[in-house]
Amino acid sequence: MRGTLTATGIALVVLAGYTLSCIIRPFRDCWLCKGKAHHRSKRNPKLSRPCRWCRSSGKRLRFGRRLWNRARRVHRDTGVTAR
Ligand SMILES: [Zn+2]
Repeated sequence: MRGTLTATGIALVVLAGYTLSCIIRPFRDCWLCKGKAHHRSKRNPKLSRPCRWCRSSGKRLRFGRRLWNRARRVHRDTGVTAR
């Protein structure tokens, strides 16, 4: 019983920390181009192409932030407003 409570507490703390980090830094470097916005073609390694994954920005929205944006969109579309 005590172990279950501790595990839940740790999970909550980790979740809160992750949420906070998503608010502070909503973007992370793109995994494909490592934030350089260009990546090398597999067939021709000398050729550098604009990264399609991040649309040449070098940044990707983090998973938590994407969930947050989707939740906000749903709220807006259904006309539910926070007071
Ligand atoms: Zn990229």
